[in-house]
Amino acid sequence: MTARVLVVDDILPNVKLLEAKLSGEYFDVITATSGAEGIQKAETLSPDIILLDVMMPGMDGFETCQRLKANPQTAHIPVVMVTALTDATDRVRGLEAGADDFLSKPVNDIALMARVRSLVRLKMTVDEWRIRENTANQFGFAGNKGTFLTEPSEKARVMVIEDKSFESEKFIETLKRDDDTVTAVRTGEQAIALAQQNDLDIITVSLNLQNEDGLRLCSHLRSNERTRAVPILMVGEETDMKRIAQGLEIGAHDYILRPVDRNELLARVRTQIRRKRYQDRLRTNYETSLSLALTDSLTGLFNRRYLMVHLEKLIKKNLESQKALCVLMLDIDHFKKINDTYGHAVGDEVLKTFAERVSARLRSFDLVARLGGEEFVVVLPDISIDMAQQVAERLRVGIAKDAFITSSPHGPVPVTVSIGAALIQGEDIKVEEALRRADDELYRAKEGGRNRIYFAGYGHITAGVAETADGADAAASPENIKDTIQKII
Ligand code: GH3
Ligand code: MG
Ligand code: MG
Repeated sequence: MTARVLVVDDILPNVKLLEAKLSGEYFDVITATSGAEGIQKAETLSPDIILLDVMMPGMDGFETCQRLKANPQTAHIPVVMVTALTDATDRVRGLEAGADDFLSKPVNDIALMARVRSLVRLKMTVDEWRIRENTANQFGFAGNKGTFLTEPSEKARVMVIEDKSFESEKFIETLKRDDDTVTAVRTGEQAIALAQQNDLDIITVSLNLQNEDGLRLCSHLRSNERTRAVPILMVGEETDMKRIAQGLEIGAHDYILRPVDRNELLARVRTQIRRKRYQDRLRTNYETSLSLALTDSLTGLFNRRYLMVHLEKLIKKNLESQKALCVLMLDIDHFKKINDTYGHAVGDEVLKTFAERVSARLRSFDLVARLGGEEFVVVLPDISIDMAQQVAERLRVGIAKDAFITSSPHGPVPVTVSIGAALIQGEDIKVEEALRRADDELYRAKEGGRNRIYFAGYGHITAGVAETADGADAAASPENIKDTIQKII
């Protein structure tokens, strides 16, 4: 993993020492000798992590951290405070300023590297969501305001895995201050059972269990679908440092050393909960904006944007697998008349029912999109010409057979559809060309009298229906539709 580390310390030998250690591990190191310079470099050089000294003249580390975390441009960059202060109160102060961890000087190499790697990994996940959100924003959807520090940290669901009652009691009591719901379990088995049935915001795992290995449990929780995204806080002794480093490697998010300081526990749990909630929010926003950007709000079908991207992939895929796919272009007949006769609202209801009827008559992997207005596209991957013609006929009849029930007081609304189709096989053609071929046939279907199917290379598909049965322009005009349907079916 290559990552860019920004080291901020006012004492040059300290900077040099950290720089040497990190460069030895192939990190790309940049340095700053004051808080102000650190902030400026964080903004312009986008480091993946910042190692920040606490005691600096002028702006100290706490204030620098606070400013970094309040700035949306730098808030997502993990900060590790490095200090000679070993007091728990200072650690808590750092965590409350938004720091992700606190390392004591002289810096333990194992702890430092494990920490840097794990925080850089976590940042990559968040970065991925930030990029996606950015894409969603380009589609015109309002972005996510705030940073992870503005997320609430109270009322979280916590699972404590600890077999010493006095320790778990301490956790429960402490976390009650934040109104957290805490469940303590004594074994891995109980933990997994509980996690299967409950959504959790954080799990604390003791690395000093009597009968099992806490690390194995961490690894299990990380690979389990249900708990993969739940932050893990390891609890261990100073002598467990090597295992803690391993734990961070396999994906645990943080650790705390015994004897556990209550305020530090609270601060670390809060940080993890805020991070998780921030990430959850990015994901939900992304999914919502994506579905808004790619589907049609009236019918719930995919929209043109999605169709264009997806059809291109389908054409390529079918080419590789040497299968045929069929593009059907559907256009409701005389829809303008339906609007004029029954009103625009009923027209909307017809469009919805139309979408439902079409979807219900397709396989789960067929694609239906609303191109706009009363025009739809159906893509049938992996299909033969015979089957494609049968499907097209099934759709046509499925629309024409029973008039549409709507809220109109004037009774059911007769609807018909014209369909143009093209089978695409063994050709590397552009989406536009595929759609154009189907559209040309649709035009012929309209010209040929509506309520009918034209297939590129095959002409009018009658499928047992007399070609003359549906006279020119007889379809869908409310006055004569019943008559027409009667004749067709
Ligand atoms: P043709 O048989 O030749 O396709 O005739 P048509 O009347 O269906 O076609 P035309 O393209 O002339 O008219 C389409 C109408 O669809 C015009 C437009 O007002 C209406 N329309 C487009 N989008 C919507 C919509 O979202 N809701 C409703 N109710 N009407 C729509
Ligand atoms: Mg139409
Ligand atoms: Mg039209």
